[in-house]
Order: sequence, then structure tokens, then C-alpha cells
Amino acid sequence: MKKVFKIAVLPGDGIGPEIVDATIRVLDIVSKKYNVHFEYKYGLVGGAAIDETGDPLPEETLRICKESDAILFGAVGGEKWDNLPTDKRPEKGLLRIRKELQLFANLRPAKAYEPLLDASPLKESVIKGVDLLVLRELTGDVYFGEPRGREVRNGERVGYNTMIYYEHEVRRIAKLAFELARKRRNKVTSVDKANVLEVSGMWRDIVNEVHADYSDVELEHMYVDNCAMQLIRRPKDFDVIVTGNIFGDIISDEAGALTGSLGMLPSASIGERYAFYEPIHGSAPDIAGKGIANPIATILSAAMMLDITCKLPKAARDIEIAVEKTLDDGFRTVDIWSVGTTKVGTFDMAEEIARRL
Ligand code: NAD
Repeated sequence: MKKVFKIAVLPGDGIGPEIVDATIRVLDIVSKKYNVHFEYKYGLVGGAAIDETGDPLPEETLRICKESDAILFGAVGGEKWDNLPTDKRPEKGLLRIRKELQLFANLRPAKAYEPLLDASPLKESVIKGVDLLVLRELTGDVYFGEPRGREVRNGERVGYNTMIYYEHEVRRIAKLAFELARKRRNKVTSVDKANVLEVSGMWRDIVNEVHADYSDVELEHMYVDNCAMQLIRRPKDFDVIVTGNIFGDIISDEAGALTGSLGMLPSASIGERYAFYEPIHGSAPDIAGKGIANPIATILSAAMMLDITCKLPKAARDIEIAVEKTLDDGFRTVDIWSVGTTKVGTFDMAEEIARRL
């Protein structure tokens, strides 16, 4: 019997609809090849939703998300909505989805593709072979800790936040890190600042305790400042990097920048029940509607969906291989184009990838 997956599709703004359409083209092939059926329900989000309903995340969209197995998201935002108050802006829709669906982990792979090595700011010998995953905790840490605030004390302004983690938050992200490492190269680097912060000391103890159930996976601990440096010096040595919310915010951007191609970077945010897949780039208003955006980050996000939500790792791997072959054969969207390669638009890039599946 055909397996059915309910997918909430939220194209959003700017290039969102184009890259999501292109990705669905690739998923159509997967559906035939793997005998699965994707039941798509489209929802409005971001500026598109503000224009229709006045709300960046209408109730209807949230309902569609909550009734789905996975959410495929494009991007939100644009100049048109830039002057709205903060809680009415398109980006608020995205933040609310993450909160409503209790997504506690953000997965950001960074992989160096052989034909795109010169896009990296690093030397070819350093970047070649890089294939790592940053796993960032999303619900705790200094971003949400209480007390927080700004006030005047003794005639002087002070600002303060609280860095806090609960045991269960560290335990569940550590467990996920080890599970993910088992499907990759069996190594976890846990990043903290345990030489200075009590919260990091506790983080480290708990990661060690969870590791007892995963002794087949190699575990190392690294201070965040050292990690920032080693990512530039020897990025190849990392497999899964697990870290808290604020360190992960910074380290994941650094890892993304290693490969140099914004249009190539996928991501997933997952919770106990829901999973959300999106490219890391924004709505690229400067190229929206021109049919030239790179769909690969979204297509690779869909590959993560096949792996994590649909439990079809072979289909996910096939997409990655098809992307590599398409690049090897010289096809490029404008953002990754170089002399001697063939420039294609969004849909043709998806078509070339689909043909190689
Ligand atoms: P951006 O990522 O949209 O674009 C940065 C640059 O990269 C632009 O020159 C753009 O043309 C290019 N680019 C991005 N994705 C590309 C792709 N797939 N193919 C080819 N080129 C691509 O970032 P920005 O310009 O800072 O922000 C634009 C809007 O997107 C803003 O409204 C911002 O708030 C929003 N934004 C949304 C998200 C999201 O939805 N997750 C993330 C970041 C920014």
C-alpha cells in the first residue's frame, strides 16, 4: 500500500513560491519512484498572508501545519512590509510557527560540493571534503531565560539576561545529536563555555551522561571560542556539532558561510511531533519573480524531510546525488554561475535534478 504523507506547503514571499514550486517538481519524481503519496495543503504566511488577512500567521495556516506530518516553507519578508510594527511583520509569522509547534532543535548541514569549491572563502585544501551538521537547541538559553530586562540602578543603566538550561532540554538535544551522528560519521562535538559558565558545566555533565547509552559514538567537548577557530582551520574534522541556542546561532552561521553559497544551504527544525523544513536564505526580493533563484537549498531541505519525517533515507540520498551530478554536469543558477558553466533558471535547475533522480 502507498504510504501517504501530509505536507503543509507555505511558499511565503519573494522567491518563496518559485523555489517551492521547483521543489515540488522534484518531490513528484520521488513520489513515483518510491511509491509514496504526498498530500499537499497550501497555506498563507508572511507578507502574502498579511495582504490577504492582516495576520502573518492566520489561524487557518496554523491549523494546516498542525494537521500535517511536515511543513515545507519557502521564505518571508520584503520591503513592502518593512515599516509595519514588529509584531505585525512577516518574520513574526515564522517565529510564531516555531513556537506553536514547539520545535526544539535546528539542524543545519554544511557540505562542500566539489564543483563549487571556489565559492568558499577558504582555501580549496581546507574546504574540500567538509560535511558537517550543526545542531542548535532552540527553546532555552539566554534568549528566553528570566529574569531579563533593562532598568536604572544607582543612577546607571543596566541590561541583563539569564542564561539557563533545564536538564530535560539538554538531555533531549544530546540524545538527538548522538542519534544523528549514528547515521553519519559517528562523531559528536559538544560546544560550550564550561571554563566560565555554570550552565555549561551542567550541559557538559548531562551530555556525558547521555553518551553512556551511545558509547559507539565518539564524543568530544570544545569551548565555543575554540570551535569558532577550528571551524575555519580544520572544518573537515567535524561531523555533528551540538550546542545551545546562542552559541548555535553564531556557530551555525559561521558553518554556513564556509561553503560560500547561500542558495545551497538547507535546514530543518524539529520537535517531538512536528518538523519544519526551509532553506536558510531569505525571500531575496532583488531577484523575486525573475525565475532565476537557486532552488537547491529548498530541494535539499525536502531531502531532509524525506530522511527525517518520511523515513526514506535512500530517497534523500538520491536527491543529494542528483544535485551533485547536476552540478558536476555544469548546470548553475546565476548565484553560483562561473565562466564555462551553463546558466539555468529556477525551474530548469529543478528539472535537471529531477532528470537525474
Ligand atoms: P536574502 O537571503 O533574502 O538575500 C541575500 C542575497 O542572497 C540577495 O542578494 C539574494 O538575491 C541572494 N539570494 C538569497 N537566496 C538566493 C537563492 N535561493 N538564489 C539566488 N540568490 C539568492 O537576505 P536579505 O536580502 O537580507 O533579506 C531579504 C528579505 O528576506 C528580508 O525581508 C528578510 O527579513 C527576509 N528573510 C527571511 C528569512 C526567512 O524567511 N527564513 C531569512 C532571512 C531573511
